Amino acid sequence: MAKLKFQTPTGMHDILPEDQAYLRSIMKVAESVSAFYGFQRIDTPILENAELYEKGTGVSTDIVEKQMYTLKTRGGDLLALRPEFTPNIVRSFLQHGMYNLPQPVKLYTSGPLFRYERPQEGRYRQLHQFDVEVFGDQSAAIDAQLIQMFVAILKDLKLSHIIVEVNSIGDSQCRPYYKKALISYLKNKQYAVCTDCRRRIKTNPLRVLDCKEEKCQQIRSQAPQMIDYLCQECKDHFKSLLEFLDEADLPYHLDPYLVRGLDYYTKTVFEVFAERSPGNPDEKGFLALGGGGRYDGLMKLYGGRETPAAGFGMGIDRVLSAVKRQSLPSEPSSPKIFLAQLGDQAKKKSMKLFEEFRKANISVAESLGRDSLRAQLARADKLGVSHTLILGQREVLDNSIVIRTMGSGAQKTVKLNEAVEEVKKLIRGK
Ligand SMILES: [Zn+2]
Ligand SMILES: [Zn+2]
Repeated sequence: MAKLKFQTPTGMHDILPEDQAYLRSIMKVAESVSAFYGFQRIDTPILENAELYEKGTGVSTDIVEKQMYTLKTRGGDLLALRPEFTPNIVRSFLQHGMYNLPQPVKLYTSGPLFRYERPQEGRYRQLHQFDVEVFGDQSAAIDAQLIQMFVAILKDLKLSHIIVEVNSIGDSQCRPYYKKALISYLKNKQYAVCTDCRRRIKTNPLRVLDCKEEKCQQIRSQAPQMIDYLCQECKDHFKSLLEFLDEADLPYHLDPYLVRGLDYYTKTVFEVFAERSPGNPDEKGFLALGGGGRYDGLMKLYGGRETPAAGFGMGIDRVLSAVKRQSLPSEPSSPKIFLAQLGDQAKKKSMKLFEEFRKANISVAESLGRDSLRAQLARADKLGVSHTLILGQREVLDNSIVIRTMGSGAQKTVKLNEAVEEVKKLIRGK
């Protein structure tokens, strides 16, 4: 087929009807787990001031450096399509004085994010995330609870083989010492790392640890580890987090080089993975489903008073693909009955009948575009309904309707205005 003139922009995708059932079950599970843990929904605009991300996410992060979609408004404001949720929600927290509410404040949101990335499997330029944030609690119990929620959502979706990578990247007290040690380690290796990392050694050395290039990973394997540089406060916090995780039987690995690509993290960082295709030797490896951490300094950076905070973002597109690989979606409720009609008068009468069934909360399938009874019954058969209602010309004249039991083929005629009640009885009797 010739290439169509109009297709989705590079790296963006449609979510087709066949994926919507998965999407709905993912959102349903994520929202019910969040509600259980006391989270409330918040929605923020898709566009924000670009400076919000430059300041918060960080100018030397990949996201701000090369992945933001920015635009200038007619009024001259520089706005960005949100590349992540955390800065928006922190901004909203400050703007609406949520620091006056009883703490902690627990919020969740979901929706599209935009990052100009090199498109590859499972990586989109318009991606979808489920995101939670907790404000006003510095305890490691919160960090553990976030990890527990993340895992609970995946488990409720019947995903197995989940692994959590955790690390602490310290805070403003201890990280500078680590940075110094890391720079001095990397200094005489600047020609052994990729060109991006050569620059990062000067601008943001921790991000060298995050680089996916083979040669940079090699260099990384000998690098000093943050854990050896943690101050007492950060060390205690991390130890406490691991104790909570142990207590909750959460499957974690300590990854001493996990840093996450954002500037604002302090102490806890984590990432969650699911095995790509458990039991299938042809498809090895893990799928990154999201991650998060603590960011105790961001509120102050935005001009608020110091407020401890932590959160995570879950990649919905990734979870969807993992769920599709590992399990089946919970079937959308299939219609219980089918309404077949013969002739224009019957078609007209059936419109009202649909509304009556809808009010009675009984799902009815139809095939108004088909005129032959045989084609309609074949459709009903395919849908696996238990009963088919048949509204023919004669039934229209004497205000009745035929109810056919699909298995046995038994039929009976009832008054049209009693059809809903009759069907209720039949369905309940099953
Ligand atoms: Zn590199
Ligand atoms: Zn520290």
